[in-house]
Amino acid sequence: MASVEDLVSIRAVEALEYPQEVRGVLSFDFDGTLHVPTENPPLSPAFFEKVQQLREEGWIWGINTGRSLPQMIDGFGFGKFPFYPDFLVAREREIFTPGQFGRWVPVEAWKKKSAKDHKRFYRQTKKFLKEVEEFVDYETDAEWIEEENGDTGVISTTIEEMQRIVDYIEKHRGKYEMLGYLRNTIYLRFSHVDYHKGTALQEVARLAGVDKQHVFVIGDGHNDLDKLHPDVAGMIACVGNADEVVKEHVREQGGYVAEGIGSLGTIEALEHFLS
Ligand SMILES: [Mg+2]
Repeated sequence: MASVEDLVSIRAVEALEYPQEVRGVLSFDFDGTLHVPTENPPLSPAFFEKVQQLREEGWIWGINTGRSLPQMIDGFGFGKFPFYPDFLVAREREIFTPGQFGRWVPVEAWKKKSAKDHKRFYRQTKKFLKEVEEFVDYETDAEWIEEENGDTGVISTTIEEMQRIVDYIEKHRGKYEMLGYLRNTIYLRFSHVDYHKGTALQEVARLAGVDKQHVFVIGDGHNDLDKLHPDVAGMIACVGNADEVVKEHVREQGGYVAEGIGSLGTIEALEHFLS
């Protein structure tokens, strides 16, 4: 059971006071990039010290994750966040800012636009998604999932199986130009092709009045590739434990491949670009 001190400390978590002048935007993936369960500690407190220091210099920061909002709120707890980020991108595309009393408030205009586009997306791709569902059900051991918000996706049993599913999609997608999907290890979520970590972060930077040259991004997995892009950020990095595909991509963009694992690699990349 949580002690009184635990409850007090949970209640005390808030975002830092918003800077008067925003100098730039820092965007971090969570799983594998900041939080690595096999490391001790999984997320170094030194990361938050570094962020706090940059925050004082006017850099706002946020998490861009494939997790849903409730899953990420869990992450803030077990990641022992001493203060909240200034923004959160959940499910790779839903943008939130911290409100009062630990509530997360969606960016309404973006939410509306996304809902409208996804309605069109599901209408246009319905038939094809049915075909993919049948392939997944009959030809693989993977599970077809429907999330409570209407999103559909797949959880495979292995990375190789996920590759087979992605190969199937790519081979048969044909005229479905609206079809996008975000994959991360054994997880895949379908979405409108214009919505991913990259476009969500572009919107965050636009709202903050920040030019892409002053945007820093770091990740470790497939679903980070869209944001690890010069159209999105001037400072591109990945951690030492990133997927090989991601490392290669970051090198191609002239970005920084850290040696450190997880949060330590993230600190290393921040120091590389911002010291
Ligand atoms: Mg990750």
